[in-house]
Parts: sequence; C-alpha cells; structure tokens
Amino acid sequence: MAPQAAADEAELLLEGGFRAVKLRLGHATLAEDLAVTRAVRRRLADHIAIMVDYNQALTVAEALERGRALAGEGVYWIEEPIRHDNIAGYTKLARKLALPIQIGENFDGAKAVTAALDAAACDFVMPDAGRIGGVTGWLQAAGVAATRGVEMSSHLLPEASAHLLAATPTAHWLEYVDWANAILAEPLAIADGCAIASSSPGTGIAWNHDAVARYRTK
Ligand SMILES: [Mg+2]
Repeated sequence: MAPQAAADEAELLLEGGFRAVKLRLGHATLAEDLAVTRAVRRRLADHIAIMVDYNQALTVAEALERGRALAGEGVYWIEEPIRHDNIAGYTKLARKLALPIQIGENFDGAKAVTAALDAAACDFVMPDAGRIGGVTGWLQAAGVAATRGVEMSSHLLPEASAHLLAATPTAHWLEYVDWANAILAEPLAIADGCAIASSSPGTGIAWNHDAVARYRTK
C-alpha cells in the first residue's frame, strides 16, 4: 500500500481500542518501506505499537540493511524477514540487529521452538495453533518459551488462540483478524482492544450454519 493509504487504514483498524497494528512490508526498495512505516508512525499515537512483517521476502543481506534502517523508526518487532527455515540466517540477524525479531508461524511443533531458541534465532515466538500441533503442541511450545523467558504471541486463529494464550505463562500479543466472523454464531468479543475468551465449553466456537451453507462451494 502507498504510505497515506496505509496510514488511513491503520487508523481505521485501531477502532475498538486496539493498541497495535501490523504492517506488511517488502516493497522493491528500502526507501518505500521506510516511507510507509514513517507515514503510519506519524499518524498513530506514541503508545500504539507497530509491528512489521516481511513474510520471508528478504535475503539475509537485505534483512540486515532494512532491519538496521527500521531500528530508529519506532517499530516494535520485525517479523519473518527471511525464509522461515534459515535458522542460521536468523541467528546472524538477531546478533546484529537492535530491532527484536519475531518468528514462529511456521513452527511445526515444540521441537522447532526449542531449535530456534537454542540457536538464539529470535527474540519472540508466535506459533500458529494449527501448525504447532493444536492444543497439545501449543502447550508444549508454551512450556519451552516459558523456561527460556521468551514472550509468545499467536498467529491468526484468534478465537482459539485467545484460550491458548490465557494458558501461556509468557503470553504476549494475540494476532487479531475478523476473517471468521461471517461464519461464526458469535464473533470473538473485543473490549478495550482485548479479546474476551468465551466461557462456553471447549473453544466456545460455534458455526452459523446458515452462513456456512451459503458460502459452501461444494
Ligand atoms: Mg506473519
């Protein structure tokens, strides 16, 4: 997105009392990434955190350059700057960058968390509840993060992740999207920027069956 459009959308997304917003970066040039980041930073209040996510788009050399440039721009973390499986590359980045590094949505189990933290490859972790191995895999990963004192956030699936983070000793941020609302009986409740985990049995997720039928493709 162009800088002003990104700033406009960031402002809109904060309605509901949210205290952070995530930018997808990875423009062709560092100058473009900086322009978007600065436009959003200028627009939002100082207490609003801005995370930036590269979705594995950079080489190690590019990540060093962009990570160094972003370090003075009021960014909270840099997420997946390079390929998710380049742990040696992450270790190099973590040693050289002042900006905290976030990874984890591609971890496929608690052992991957252990390997990344043993290699000092990141500052934070953010598993995906599905990919990490459901409730069991999540709790194992949370145990690893807790023994290392590393803050753990969630990747997507906020309705289930709200419960999982409530049982995570080093719980950090819930990644919130409202993508499932169209097919849920009751959307995840948000109050003052925080998710309220449902008190119904299990995850409390119930489908809106009429909507599911309407959107079913076969
Ligand atoms: Mg991400």
